[in-house]
Amino acid sequence: VTIQQDVLRARVSFGRSRKYLAEASGLTEGKIWRIEKKGNASADEAAGLQPVLDRIFANEALLDAPPVRRPAVPGPAATPASSSPAPPPPAAVGVDWPTLQAIAAEVGDHEIERITEGPDPTAGFRLYSNSELQAAADCPRRWWLGWYRGMRLKAESPVGVLAIGDRIHRALKLWYLPAPHPRVDPRTALEILITQDWTKITRQLGADSPELGAVQKRFQDEATLERAMIEGYVQWLTETGADSELEIIGAEQYVEVDLAQLEDTGIRRPSKLIAKYDVRARRKSDGVRLFIDHKTVGDLTRPRKTLHMNEQMLHYLFIEWLDTPEGEKRCDGALYNMLRKVRRSTAAKPPFYDRVEVHHNEIELQNYKLKLIGRIRRVEDMEDALDAGGVHQLVTPPRPTGDCAWRCEFFAVCPMFDDGSRAEDMLKMYYRESNPLEYYQTGLSEGELTGE
Ligand code: SF4
Repeated sequence: VTIQQDVLRARVSFGRSRKYLAEASGLTEGKIWRIEKKGNASADEAAGLQPVLDRIFANEALLDAPPVRRPAVPGPAATPASSSPAPPPPAAVGVDWPTLQAIAAEVGDHEIERITEGPDPTAGFRLYSNSELQAAADCPRRWWLGWYRGMRLKAESPVGVLAIGDRIHRALKLWYLPAPHPRVDPRTALEILITQDWTKITRQLGADSPELGAVQKRFQDEATLERAMIEGYVQWLTETGADSELEIIGAEQYVEVDLAQLEDTGIRRPSKLIAKYDVRARRKSDGVRLFIDHKTVGDLTRPRKTLHMNEQMLHYLFIEWLDTPEGEKRCDGALYNMLRKVRRSTAAKPPFYDRVEVHHNEIELQNYKLKLIGRIRRVEDMEDALDAGGVHQLVTPPRPTGDCAWRCEFFAVCPMFDDGSRAEDMLKMYYRESNPLEYYQTGLSEGELTGE
């Protein structure tokens, strides 16, 4: 057994965080990350870490502080600057507010994010995600604001298409977990998330805010829709046995591949491709490995028509293709798991759920490689031109489409860069600088389960 395997065992089977291991052993979190990820440990590092691991396996307490933080889930009474209690969340029939808080606190103990990995920011590689490359290709201005400058909205809308998709996604994350991690029924998970999200909204707006009433109505409507979607999904799984053939082998897994293994790319900086898989699974009947991507969709037919061209799937499969050593079994395809955004009333026509398997052959992967290289080189060109003081309108011009309004977080500020308005002041007020890779750095955040 290597020290890398022991670290993984401590993290996955004993739920110990990198921070915990670092504090107990006197190493840094970055070193723990390296040992866990690459298996490289100096003799001194191994000597410091091994006794800690042995004691974990012997179930001894190592630190005074408990390894699992359990912040109190904020409730309506905790809403600051308000004498009146916050309005209750739109609870489901039969589930009350204190019960939900108790469940949330309990589920917070699972610490699911601890089993995930993320990019090592200290390794000196330029890391490319599919979303960055898509943004750079679709709209250079969106790439300039979101990736080159790292701007993100300070507060994302708590309601709307993206919020619905996000909550459904988070509810499903807690269900598709590999053994031995405890799984949470998506209906329960959704109630917890609705409660937490509503608590956050009341805290942000203030319980006396005049806006709260309007947001509450919309939030409540959307929560009803989400419940119908998730309840129907669980029912659909029971009726069809859609999951019975799947063994979950990974959740929220971060992967990266070094592009140095490709020859003559003309890419100038040390670069890696990165991705995070929602779920990895193995089909029991034939051993085929798949990754699953959950999507909330308006209808089930349109995505089917273009799935074979969906570059997110291609990007993931390409990474698998590069990452699998010769002779080992590769991931064979993607399972696109669709949930329709409908309340399933008597007027709504089924089907409401569908799954499509997507496969790509070697020629498609080879050609994707060329497209990818071209895109990365263009990003490098844009970065160099901007670093050299190039004017953003010249280097990264906007490319507006009909989707800007719902899809782009810079929709409001974008035209201000060209009409003489104080775009930079608006950016300061409503956006924050962030690390565009933060999504890849954790899986399920503690906040998703604890409300922080
Ligand atoms: S609003 Fe449209 S044009 Fe402007 S940055 Fe966003 S995607 Fe590009």
